[in-house]
Amino acid sequence: MSLHILDTRQLGHAGIVAATALKTDDGIALFDTGPESTFDNVVTDLRKAGFDAGDVRRVFLSHIHFDHAGAAWRFAETATIYVHPRGAPHLIDPAKLVESATRIFGSDMERLWGKIAPVPRERVKILEDNEIVRVPPFEIRAIATPGHASHHHVYHWDDNVFGGDIAGVRIGNGPPIPPFVPPELHVESWRESIAKIRNLNPAQLYLPHFGRVEGSISEHLDLLDERVARWSEWFREKIHTGTSEVDLRSEFATLEHSEIEAASSDLVTCHSSLVTSYEAADPSYMAVSAAIRYWNKYHPEEVTP
Ligand SMILES: [Zn+2]
Repeated sequence: MSLHILDTRQLGHAGIVAATALKTDDGIALFDTGPESTFDNVVTDLRKAGFDAGDVRRVFLSHIHFDHAGAAWRFAETATIYVHPRGAPHLIDPAKLVESATRIFGSDMERLWGKIAPVPRERVKILEDNEIVRVPPFEIRAIATPGHASHHHVYHWDDNVFGGDIAGVRIGNGPPIPPFVPPELHVESWRESIAKIRNLNPAQLYLPHFGRVEGSISEHLDLLDERVARWSEWFREKIHTGTSEVDLRSEFATLEHSEIEAASSDLVTCHSSLVTSYEAADPSYMAVSAAIRYWNKYHPEEVTP
């Protein structure tokens, strides 16, 4: 199998956002594209691997957040874009997505993600849960895996899984952490989705943040699941006792950073740069608004004093 991790080098930062290229008998299948702002970097890496942008015939999106799908409309010139049913309308008309992202990122949108444009309707192909796309010599199966976003798929072929964000962020020699983001964090679904990935028993797991998971995948999934449960419970207690959003941001950043440092302490690494990489891939402040929204929406009785 010929598979290449393409580094988007978003905002000049290597090793945080990947597009994953799989060579098939009919051109390249790309799993996530990275944001539009890094399209040229992805094409540069594709060329280093011996291909060109026009060789990309299929793009399989884990979900439609801009760091994963922002460049889909660029690749749509030659490629079919596969996506979860709930993601498709927002590729065809990104207005609502832009509006909701602007609430989070404000005037930083263009710098972070580049240009946003619609994917032509005829280029978008919806994949239902368990639907298979035959791309010789592979059969690529989409598996609905909500929790990080309601419109999230992982993709399974042979003994490989492209895990999207539901399978965690793991950078360098750091630990797997769950990227809690608003507005669709759903803890119970997340844990069920981890169980679905575990049941596939993959030999290889590829992450958009970042690359192939080294070492035991079942251990990776165990550590991730434990953090989903423990961190959401940590937030529940803090919200219940009336901790302000500002304090939550700094307390959660401290918690997350200490876990990143602790997990990588036995290896030679620069802790501060590892923490910076995690923050670049998945800003910790987003977990705070995600958790507040989740608890108040789904379990308000648990957080009202
Ligand atoms: Zn992401």
